[in-house]
Amino acid sequence: MIDKNTIENWNNSLKNESPENVLRYFLEHFAGKIALSSSMGPEDQVLSEMITSINPSVEIFTLDTGRLFPETYDLIDRTSKKYKTQIKVYFPDAKDVEEMIASKGINLFFDSIENRKLCCSLRKLAPLARALNGLDAWITGLRRDQSITRTDLQIVEWDENNGLLKINPLANWTEKDTWDYIDLKKIPVSPLHKKGFSSIGCQPCTRAIEEGEDVRAGRWWWENPDTKECGLHQK
Ligand code: SF4
Repeated sequence: MIDKNTIENWNNSLKNESPENVLRYFLEHFAGKIALSSSMGPEDQVLSEMITSINPSVEIFTLDTGRLFPETYDLIDRTSKKYKTQIKVYFPDAKDVEEMIASKGINLFFDSIENRKLCCSLRKLAPLARALNGLDAWITGLRRDQSITRTDLQIVEWDENNGLLKINPLANWTEKDTWDYIDLKKIPVSPLHKKGFSSIGCQPCTRAIEEGEDVRAGRWWWENPDTKECGLHQK
């Protein structure tokens, strides 16, 4: 475990650094023990571009819940080819998912928050735990202004649930910063963004948003905003 003072010192010294410099520092500091967790969203694609230009051998992984959009699978393929890396794909335990569906139904997540969290737990959290096993730090594309659940996000945080450091190089970036960088570097993104999908997760749990809505309003749209995390990024 890394103590609070070290984390605070990192946050103070890195708060005005560019995401590239934050990445350069931690990719070297935790060489071989750090990976990018990508949901294939715009921010993660920005980080894939930055990381592969710094060190192409750093692991990038994604979680295939079994309920993703077809466009997301295409994007995994296109991104792997563009950056000459093989994005590692982690799957849920088949037996656990079979048992869940047998007892609660294939679309159980619409029935209750409890069911939705169970589904996220089996399809996302358990594979994530396997992906993080043996690492000292993971990198995420979280930004502070993404939602009301992320307003106190720091560049460096201790991830209590998974017992390792979490690095958020884009914490200070806005949505505009992200898309300007994507345009500048011609980074591949999901075609669904042009159809109103701002934050893309599993197909049944994501809808397009209307103009003026919060960027994550389309995720689990039937729930209150303050419950809308899948557990990957809770402290
Ligand atoms: S987002 Fe929906 S389908 Fe995907 S794991 Fe969570 S509840 Fe299940």
